[in-house]
Amino acid sequence: MSVWDEVVGQERVVATLRAAVEASRAGADGAPAADAGRAMTHAWLITGPPGSGRSVAARAFAAALQCTDPDEPGCGHCQACTTTLAGTHADVALVGTEKVVFSIDEIRPLVSQAQRSPSQGRWRVMLMEDADRMVERTSNVLLKAIEEPPPRTVWLLCAPSPEDVLTTIRSRCRAVHLRVPDPRAVADLLVRRDGLDPQVALTAARAAQSHVGLARRLARDPQARERRRRLLGVPTAIRGVGDAVLAAAQLIDISAADAKAATEERDAEEKAALLRTLGADAGTKLPPALRGQVRQLEEDQKRRATRAQRDVLDQAMVELLSLYRDVLVLQLGADVELVNADAADQVRRLAEGTTPEQTVRRMDAVGVARERLAGNVAPLLAVEAMMVALRPQAS
Ligand SMILES: [Zn+2]
Repeated sequence: MSVWDEVVGQERVVATLRAAVEASRAGADGAPAADAGRAMTHAWLITGPPGSGRSVAARAFAAALQCTDPDEPGCGHCQACTTTLAGTHADVALVGTEKVVFSIDEIRPLVSQAQRSPSQGRWRVMLMEDADRMVERTSNVLLKAIEEPPPRTVWLLCAPSPEDVLTTIRSRCRAVHLRVPDPRAVADLLVRRDGLDPQVALTAARAAQSHVGLARRLARDPQARERRRRLLGVPTAIRGVGDAVLAAAQLIDISAADAKAATEERDAEEKAALLRTLGADAGTKLPPALRGQVRQLEEDQKRRATRAQRDVLDQAMVELLSLYRDVLVLQLGADVELVNADAADQVRRLAEGTTPEQTVRRMDAVGVARERLAGNVAPLLAVEAMMVALRPQAS
């Protein structure tokens, strides 16, 4: 399987990236030409809505750039391809942040790392997810690095939309934009790659609104399906303000548990590794001089857990939005498929008891809650206000 197979439903972008890889290559021996650096763009901005596969596309591009197969760049099985995809290639830096924004101290080391020539690969690739999570001062540090890159360094910045990145950065990047893939293309991948049943895969792909990772989890994990079922049942269960407040607390609890399950194992491993590095066994008491390092790690982990919870909550909001979108589809008699075909009963009940205007207002309320969560409002407050707006109201 080539590295491009995972970039689902993005034919145009894949064609652009493949052409760039070809341009960056030289003769049949596969060795880079002296001027290959000039043929290649040194900074790329890969944008697309959540779930469109930004980081998948960026990794595939990085792998194809490093690939050592002379005939098929991005072969998917050479060492350069496999290590890049696994995140262990020495010349591919995968940069993300668990925080709400990158700190300037996280960016500075990257800038100096980007100045070095690749140690073994064809390129030094700086792959940055969440390039939108940067304040202007931090962006300016990055800008200098992007403006004058060494001949064999390439930056791949990912963000939801070009507007999320400062104009100064944007204007120095070549932009490619991903779209949300057709659910059928996603289902196809799940069938081909993971051997899932076609009907289960298609239902999951629709429910996940074409988010590949989510669709795969829904199709394979009964607990994930159960959480989704409970979430979609919330709007029909709310009768008054009391229920709304209760539902908000429940949603926060579910998301905290979800995020905890996702981060707990990794936290324990990291802590054990740090203690080993510091020469301490888990049981022994650390000398005071070393306690600071452990505390630092614990603080980082706490921040990461907070972000994970916000991401889980945001995903829940997106699912609620899709539910009301379906309600509106029924209310307006539009001839399009339901996202939540697996929750058609809920959709029908909500559609019957309300008007399209109320549905639109509820969608607005969910949108406002998402914005407030992104803006660091206490999650419970944001979700409570939303739930209250979702309760049945006289029109
Ligand atoms: Zn390869």
